[in-house]
Amino acid sequence: MSAPLREPLPAFDPLRVRADFPLLTRTVHGKPLVYFDSANTSQKPALVIEAVDRFYRQHNANVARAVHALSEEATAAYEGARVALARFIGAGTPDELVLTSGTTMAINLVAYSYLQPQLKPGDTVLVTQMEHHANIVPWQLVCARNGATLKVAPISERGELIVERFVELLTPEVKLAGVTHVSNVLGTVNPVRELARECRRRGIPLLVDGSQAVPHMAVDVQTIGCDFYAFTGHKMCGPTGTGGLWARRERLSAMPPFFGGGEMIREVRFSGTTFADPPHRFEAGTPNIAGFVGLGAAVQYLERLGMANVFARERELLAYASDALRSMPGLRIIGEAPDKAAVISFLVAGAHAHDLATLLDLEGIAVRSGHHCAHPLMQFYGVPATCRASFAFYNTTDEIDRFVAALDKVRRLLV
Ligand code: PMP
Repeated sequence: MSAPLREPLPAFDPLRVRADFPLLTRTVHGKPLVYFDSANTSQKPALVIEAVDRFYRQHNANVARAVHALSEEATAAYEGARVALARFIGAGTPDELVLTSGTTMAINLVAYSYLQPQLKPGDTVLVTQMEHHANIVPWQLVCARNGATLKVAPISERGELIVERFVELLTPEVKLAGVTHVSNVLGTVNPVRELARECRRRGIPLLVDGSQAVPHMAVDVQTIGCDFYAFTGHKMCGPTGTGGLWARRERLSAMPPFFGGGEMIREVRFSGTTFADPPHRFEAGTPNIAGFVGLGAAVQYLERLGMANVFARERELLAYASDALRSMPGLRIIGEAPDKAAVISFLVAGAHAHDLATLLDLEGIAVRSGHHCAHPLMQFYGVPATCRASFAFYNTTDEIDRFVAALDKVRRLLV
């Protein structure tokens, strides 16, 4: 692994940064691509693609299983990615970071390893109305097995968590609370520090779903003060099938393993097995080594850009796009929290979200339409689906102009 590139570039040059992403130069349906689906998955800079390529060409071997040079190189690269990621999210030590296939796996790990062994009939898990299915369904499954129930903290029409209600719902039966740092549909940034403080006061562990936060702002898990922090690599310029779960060492040490197999043991006997220390205790089997090598490169790239620059640039794009869309007849933006990430969910009166997205695609513009893995949120707003344009630092205001012009055109066709 090369040394971390911690110095941010002196000034953020959007066009120079955009040139780092080879895919952004392609056309779709004969039109230059406008990629506004980064909340779904981000595009990858050339240096991430090259890091994966280089790993397979020059270093490929399994990790921690052999003493030969390639295996040592692969292990160093994989563990180097853990070090880089731990630093990036403000973990105390790399041992506090379990490498997972993504947020979904990280939350399931907490559900089955931490929660299930202690959950009793009558207990509850508290989530919010704006959660992704990944922060709902694992809790439902564990609750159903153990006779426990799920409680839901409400949100306002603007898409903000009603913090007082969340706090009121933190009753003694709550054995864990789960909240998204940033909503993938509304863009709402939740006050996770405040929520963590309230949870701590009551001795209730808080899991924060950081999928939509880590790629877009500087995150420091220790400052947040939560108990578990889950995130996914493919939304932060890294390969798919990568991500992590952060928790303090004492917390991880107290958790039994969830998956069993190679790499997570100390000694296996038919009379009984002893397990490795965290984080390896939770990493059974061969991991996505090349993926984490790519994610390590992505972290270095983001560090070099500077997360403050990324944050500021994306807020600019959000403000620019929101202003343009607000004046469009019949357009309704879903999610108007004052503290909001660069995600705009919208509906056009008289047009179905899928029809809008299909026609926009013909113009070369990729937006997501659907329920965004947030059925309960769609139910709250009484809609089956929304269109969602989500921006990343590699997008430009020219692309937003093209998107707004195309949306105006397709709106007229449909309505
Ligand atoms: N939570 C949120 C808020 C998300 O946006 C996503 C990805 N759409 C996930 C969880 C799940 O992430 P993954 O599929 O990478 O595990």
